[in-house]
Amino acid sequence: MQACDLCHLLVGEPATVPPHEDLAASGIGLKPNRCKADSRWRCMGCGAWMYQSTALGEPPNMWRMGARPQDLAEAGT
Ligand SMILES: [Zn+2]
Repeated sequence: MQACDLCHLLVGEPATVPPHEDLAASGIGLKPNRCKADSRWRCMGCGAWMYQSTALGEPPNMWRMGARPQDLAEAGT
């Protein structure tokens, strides 16, 4: 899978940078203690999964690109 330029540009940016126009909200990631770790976004252009971390995320307060969320994969959707 080849991520588009818009996604590449967002990786490593501060989480305060807004999602680009092709990103659709796809839920949130929670820590085991139920604290929000990140917001998940799916790119309608290239299909990449983007994670907008909170201060509790990894890395904190930063955009990263990642694999399909594990809990979604297990749900079979
Ligand atoms: Zn993209």
